[in-house]
Amino acid sequence: MHNYDVIVAGGGVMGTALTWYLSRMGRRVLLLERVDLCHGSTGATDGYITPHTKQPGYHLELALESSKLYETLREEIDSDIDIELDLHCGGLQVCEDQMQWDLISGNKEKLSAGGLELYMLEIEEVRKIEPTVSPNMRGAMYSPTAGSVNPFRLTQAFADHAQKMGAEILIETGIDSLVFDGGRVAGVRSGDAVYYAGYVVNCCGAWGSELAKMAGLDLPVSPKRGQIIVSEPTAPLLNTVMQTGLYPIIKFKPERITDERIFRLGLGFGIEQTRDGSILIGGTRELVGFDRGNTLECIEAMAQTAQVYIPAIADLHFIRCFSGLRPYTPDGLPVMGRVTQMPGLVMCCGHEGDGIALAPISGKLVAEEIVYGKTSFPIAPCAVERFRKPVLPGLKYAID
Ligand SMILES: Cc1cc2nc3c(=O)[nH]c(=O)nc-3n(C[C@H](O)[C@H](O)[C@H](O)COP(=O)(O)OP(=O)(O)OC[C@H]3O[C@@H](n4cnc5c(N)ncnc54)[C@H](O)[C@@H]3O)c2cc1C
Repeated sequence: MHNYDVIVAGGGVMGTALTWYLSRMGRRVLLLERVDLCHGSTGATDGYITPHTKQPGYHLELALESSKLYETLREEIDSDIDIELDLHCGGLQVCEDQMQWDLISGNKEKLSAGGLELYMLEIEEVRKIEPTVSPNMRGAMYSPTAGSVNPFRLTQAFADHAQKMGAEILIETGIDSLVFDGGRVAGVRSGDAVYYAGYVVNCCGAWGSELAKMAGLDLPVSPKRGQIIVSEPTAPLLNTVMQTGLYPIIKFKPERITDERIFRLGLGFGIEQTRDGSILIGGTRELVGFDRGNTLECIEAMAQTAQVYIPAIADLHFIRCFSGLRPYTPDGLPVMGRVTQMPGLVMCCGHEGDGIALAPISGKLVAEEIVYGKTSFPIAPCAVERFRKPVLPGLKYAID
């Protein structure tokens, strides 16, 4: 019989971070991934660690805690994999016009009040930090403490070290159903195999609602597509991680967008340069179900808009594109912690566009909750019970 302390469902950044933390706490962990590590959103993402792109308040506090953990992560993960962490490249939110400047300035005040070092810079000052930004821009919000990491490498490094500590990781092993015993979740079924554990953790990202449904829960986590285009490697063009001025509006207040196309495509995105020199532009924010395709409309729109911000982009060849599904929740906060009315089931999903930044703190807090029954930083705002969804028809178990 296969018996573990914890079964982690899903091999993205969240599942592997949690497996790493649990293994460090001496727990015997099995991670089951339906396809391969990084098959989900983690394999189709940017790597921004940008607290200034979070909502003021709890969301920002969580991000700042996570950034603190990133400071020592590279030394703590025992792996030869270079996670390409840069915590000091800085971040810009570039404003095209006065309207964006006013909105972002207002947001800056709230984020600064939450303890974040931020500056509103006139365009001349912006161009001292990022000379390739168009002089026609109005200015930018600058965050000196923004950083980036390579999400593939981070996930592989978490997995690598966790395995060294005894964790088992099975790929191409999807969970088909949960096993119940005495009113609690006691394991999972994958094909003919049954794996038992004290806890099963839902780290299934945008597919989190599918796993929750196996326990009769109606979890409001849904996919939000993000398309990204990638240029050929080029000489150094960008020092910072950058977002367009519409990024915070598309992310938090899309209802304010009056342009139908910008609203439908969610056209507020980031521009960054990877270590190999490629420029990554993306991603859109589209509600198109589980469709992971790319569309010419988005590719053109992003390439054209990016040139307005960085004119030198016009000279680049774009060589590929991909898209990922952000695990979106209605209030923008993840779902973390035990499910009170379903003992044995724990949540760690729904991180929308922030899962790379929030992976260390999420893995740590959920591991603490499982191992110690309490956490070093509050996770109550992320409790699944906040949704209080009704019982799914015909199913026995429910949150409420
Ligand atoms: C275009 C784009 C840009 C982004 N940029 C950033 C950024 O700059 N910074 C940032 O912090 N975040 C960013 N994000 C968000 C980030 O990618 C996600 O929040 C994060 O990757 C979510 O990780 P996860 O492990 O929860 O989910 P995923 O990576 O989606 O992993 C879930 C895994 O669960 C597996 N799974 C599903 N069902 C089952 C099952 N039944 N059994 C077993 N396995 C199963 C899937 O195959 C998948 O591998 C971006 C996302 C997109 C799409």
